[in-house]
Amino acid sequence: MPLTGHHRHYFTIEQRETLQRQLERRAAALREAIATALRATGDAQAAGLANHLEETDDEPVADLESAIEIAALEREVRELRAVESARKRLHEPDFGLCEDCEAEIPYARLSANPTAIRCVGCQTQRERGAGPAARL
Ligand SMILES: [Zn+2]
Repeated sequence: MPLTGHHRHYFTIEQRETLQRQLERRAAALREAIATALRATGDAQAAGLANHLEETDDEPVADLESAIEIAALEREVRELRAVESARKRLHEPDFGLCEDCEAEIPYARLSANPTAIRCVGCQTQRERGAGPAARL
């Protein structure tokens, strides 16, 4: 169990900075992929959203709700949302603690998958319980 009574960061500054860079790179790649796909629809509103995505780096992904109607983008939008959420959590003291059991998620796991919010055990349990469709 994590220490109680005071907050502490579980990871070093260097580790958090590395994860932050990974998340930023992934977010940029996803924004670009989504923007490209939005433009490809030929829809004016979608193109506007694409421009918006590329202009700002700090935009809540809520605007993408309309983009999610484009089924082909659903996976990317969902991942971008997870990436943005991880970028915010990265600076909170409980970043790196499993959402379900509060165990510390090993840095190696986060390094391979910076958006992970559960330890391997809890994630496996979820995937088993909810079926393969509920992954991520
Ligand atoms: Zn857990």
